[in-house]
Amino acid sequence: MTAARHTLVIGLTGGIGSGKSTVASGFGRLGVPLIDADLIARELVEPGKAALEEIRAVFGPECLTTEGRLDRTWISEKIFADEKLRRQLEAILHPKISKRIKALIADVQAAYCIVVIPLLLETGQQNLVDRILVVDTPENEQIKRVAARDKLSHNAVIRIMDTQATREARLAAADDIIVNDSDLETLTSHIRSLHHRYLELSNGN
Ligand code: ADP
Repeated sequence: MTAARHTLVIGLTGGIGSGKSTVASGFGRLGVPLIDADLIARELVEPGKAALEEIRAVFGPECLTTEGRLDRTWISEKIFADEKLRRQLEAILHPKISKRIKALIADVQAAYCIVVIPLLLETGQQNLVDRILVVDTPENEQIKRVAARDKLSHNAVIRIMDTQATREARLAAADDIIVNDSDLETLTSHIRSLHHRYLELSNGN
């Protein structure tokens, strides 16, 4: 009997607007299974889920819209202004997100998978993954891309970036780096070469 093969788990992270979603889709097009922490977080707070009740108990009924869904704008503003509330929200969500990520990884039938965790370093979830892939983009480019994508002012983007790990901290934690400072064709070729590297690495597992 051979032991079950371990799936190589790549944690994909990067600052807002660095290109994580774009890179993840590129791996997805190559047939690599994707797990998305943001999507999991959204599913966890759907009406009827335990997490939503726990959040309501901490934040009060104002955290819900009239349809009984989590009011994401309201809650973002609250936790932006109050560090203690941010930690309380994280204490509710992060263990549940980690548990769900682990369950999804256990179901993967592939040599490797990509787990997109935007706040991988900020939330100390490095233990979930075997390698950290950082998408690195010059900050001025991040600001331009997010301002265009989300119709935000440059200052609003900078405020969000200030709550995230610094570019230096991310690069220091990276096993692999994709520099996304050029066109999408260049990005695709970076993704393809990393794909081959991950397939090779997973052979050794
Ligand atoms: P993240 O998921 O890290 O927030 P996205 O993948 O959504 O970032 O990228 C931010 C924006 O920049 C998106 O509108 C995306 O289409 C665009 N983008 C990403 N990489 C490039 C690139 N190399 N060239 C041009 N636009 C890009």
